[in-house]
Amino acid sequence: MKTEVVASEKVKAFDCQHFINGRFLPSQSGKMFQNINPATGEVIGTVCEGGKEEIDLAVAAAKRALSGPWKRMTTGERIAVLRRIGDLILERKEELARLESLDTGKPYSLSLTLDIPRAAYNFHFFADYLRSVGTEAYQTDEVAINYSIRRPVGVVGLINPWNLPLLLLTWKLAPCLAAGNTAVIKPAEWTPLTATVLAEICKEAGVPDGVVNVVHGFGPDSAGAALTEHPDVDAITFTGETTTGKVIMAAAAKSLKKLSYELGGKNPNIIFADADLDEAIETTLKSSFMNQGEVCLCGSRIYVERPLYEQFLQKFVAKTKELVVGDPFDPRTNVGALISEEHYERVMSYIELAKEEGGRILTGGKRPDGLDQGYYLEPTIIVGVNRNCRIVREEVFGPVVTVMPFDEEEEVIAQANDTHYGLSATIWTNDLRRAHRVAARIEAGIVWVNTWFLRDLRTPFGGMKQSGIGREGGMHSFEFYTELTNICIKL
Ligand code: ADP
Repeated sequence: MKTEVVASEKVKAFDCQHFINGRFLPSQSGKMFQNINPATGEVIGTVCEGGKEEIDLAVAAAKRALSGPWKRMTTGERIAVLRRIGDLILERKEELARLESLDTGKPYSLSLTLDIPRAAYNFHFFADYLRSVGTEAYQTDEVAINYSIRRPVGVVGLINPWNLPLLLLTWKLAPCLAAGNTAVIKPAEWTPLTATVLAEICKEAGVPDGVVNVVHGFGPDSAGAALTEHPDVDAITFTGETTTGKVIMAAAAKSLKKLSYELGGKNPNIIFADADLDEAIETTLKSSFMNQGEVCLCGSRIYVERPLYEQFLQKFVAKTKELVVGDPFDPRTNVGALISEEHYERVMSYIELAKEEGGRILTGGKRPDGLDQGYYLEPTIIVGVNRNCRIVREEVFGPVVTVMPFDEEEEVIAQANDTHYGLSATIWTNDLRRAHRVAARIEAGIVWVNTWFLRDLRTPFGGMKQSGIGREGGMHSFEFYTELTNICIKL
């Protein structure tokens, strides 16, 4: 018990250790890296840098835990543990929201109302859902009966991004645990804080040692790669960049791991002339700039039907200028800081590229006046570009959108689908037939009509083309986190 450290105390000092087999511990190598607050550029703490040694320890613990008390728990007991994790997240809502904003630079108001409550709900939802998870049975004439049984996949590697750290981690961890698996979590290197506290919460909620493990570190040649290469890891669920997904797939191929991917997007937001303009603009502000535009579901390609184009632009630009960019802890702030200097430079380079491609910046495109420190960027609207421009084709993952006019339904569908991504789309129209017609033809895993980001956790979530593999949500999550055995009995 001596090695046990209370994570929240460590986090107050902003130092993050690994959590392996129910204990907090440093790296065997002693290596550490710095954690930077994107809102100030200041170092707020250190993080232990894990590698193959820590992944080996964590995977071994997770493998042992598969056959321990975790396996013997009844469904009712497991549901109680999951519900307790959700309750504890809510009890520590303010603390977790603060840490999330310190790590990511996102507004505290957003962490407090979206990221953390949704993280708790992920556990409450999958706890409730577990009761209804069943299997199939078939009778083969008079000859045989078939039924399936469901079992955990085994040790699952959860590789997480930095944009919605606790929300996306819990979206994976809750069904992973509900299905009886054990987990090795690799948080994004830029956002280690809330995953560290979650480990402590899991322990307090009664998750047996070894069932949930957290190893900090980087991707290539580090903890991330070691996790994807480990032969005892049975499945990997990954949310992140498409290019990273390809590297992970190659590594996972060696032991043919089961994969679930949620990758990038370059999502169209299509506004027909009959749409309710004010509603479309209110929501488009969110789908463009919420979380600094660092959401894979953001609608960064806006297409407006020509009769509405000028009016839309005028209002949209005016409303965008009203957004307050600044200190994540100021309650008036709408848009915080981008995640890191490196990412800030990347987003800025896309703005420069857009100008070279003939784009005109109607608002934004620069650091806000008076904010000299931190990675702040004004919400940016670009026009005058076309479907061949890189700014229209590539994912920027920042507060940057392009707006283009269109004349025909066919034309906008073709443009919307002219991408190797296929995550989400938004359509604004009051024409019922058109809504159904267009929605069915957009190549995306999720299409919203007259709304955005509205989620029912029972529905399939994921992307097509290079935006993902598989779906999670409701029963779809259980399809990934369980294996089926069909049992055929001759009568
Ligand atoms: P970003 O570059 O914007 O951080 P990534 O997709 O690279 O987005 O990162 C998402 C997660 O994937 C992070 O936790 C990161 O450490 C991890 N990661 C990056 N590269 C690899 C890799 N080669 N193998 C395993 N994990 C990786």
